[in-house]
Amino acid sequence: MKPAPFEYHRPASLAETFDLLDRYGDDGRLLAGGQSLVPALNMRLATPRAVIDINRLPGLDAITLGPEGLVIGALARHEAVERSPLVREHAPLLALAMPHVGHEAIRTRGTVGGSLALADPAAELPACAVALDATVRVEGRHGRREVAAADFFRGVYTTALAPGELVTGLVVPAAAGWRSAFQELARRHGDFALAGLAARARVESAGVVEARLVFFGVGAAPVRARGAERTLAGRRADAEAIAAARDALAGELDPPGDVHGSPALRRHLAGVLLARALTQLVAVRP
Ligand SMILES: Cc1cc2nc3c(=O)[nH]c(=O)nc-3n(C[C@H](O)[C@H](O)[C@H](O)COP(=O)(O)OP(=O)(O)OC[C@H]3O[C@@H](n4cnc5c(N)ncnc54)[C@H](O)[C@@H]3O)c2cc1C
Repeated sequence: MKPAPFEYHRPASLAETFDLLDRYGDDGRLLAGGQSLVPALNMRLATPRAVIDINRLPGLDAITLGPEGLVIGALARHEAVERSPLVREHAPLLALAMPHVGHEAIRTRGTVGGSLALADPAAELPACAVALDATVRVEGRHGRREVAAADFFRGVYTTALAPGELVTGLVVPAAAGWRSAFQELARRHGDFALAGLAARARVESAGVVEARLVFFGVGAAPVRARGAERTLAGRRADAEAIAAARDALAGELDPPGDVHGSPALRRHLAGVLLARALTQLVAVRP
């Protein structure tokens, strides 16, 4: 199919973008990498009056290190994040996660801002943002807001973005001493996950001091497994601790069922991913 006719705008500044968002309201859609929007247009699942192409907004594709931490611009492509030495050093969880996002051709176009704004419950980046205690940088005509990722994702395709705002970046605070592990199960590599886990932990002598365990594909938004985190804190991550964490996890997940998998299957897979991630996190490192 072909998209329904729409007006096309390519603003050159944020101010111009805000004007267009004001002018079209719900009838205007931002276009970033287009990897989700363009199929929706072509299938006429989305029929906006105007498409507002933000690809020429200056500076929004930068990945920089500042006093607030690592700042990844909304227009940074998944592939740029995957290959960035700054990301590898300061947010290795993102470097581990990116190869799981679709296929390489998709990652060369898809953007960080698009993925955060779309808030697909099976997407990797939102879960990583929560696990990293990151904030989503949001801007509108009335200024800039920094929204904790944990508060940004409100439900299926639903975020804390207000009308007239766009995502301009992701800010990842410094976190010395944390290790990262990323696990995902999908039917084929590049498919959206049946279940996935973005995990971080502070580890001392094979014991977990503190952990962040954020699952995706098992709820309407990223799910932080606080019960499993508490079960592990201050313990050696041996078989007994892992089993206890899996029990705690099973009690706190309420995954959806669909044609791809039942709730019971997703709950089981989440437990498997938890065991794998913990084994990685506490493995002795050179
Ligand atoms: C075959 C295939 C497989 C895929 N597999 C995965 C996968 O495994 N994991 C995954 O996470 N994604 C996957 N994707 C989606 C891909 O990662 C997209 O890049 C991403 O979801 C959206 O980013 P985008 O830049 O392409 O956004 P677009 O498609 O341009 O926009 C998506 C939505 O976000 C809005 N938007 C875009 N940028 C902003 C902004 N800065 N502020 C506010 N709103 C904005 C748009 O208006 C639109 O509603 C897949 C896509 C395809 C086609």
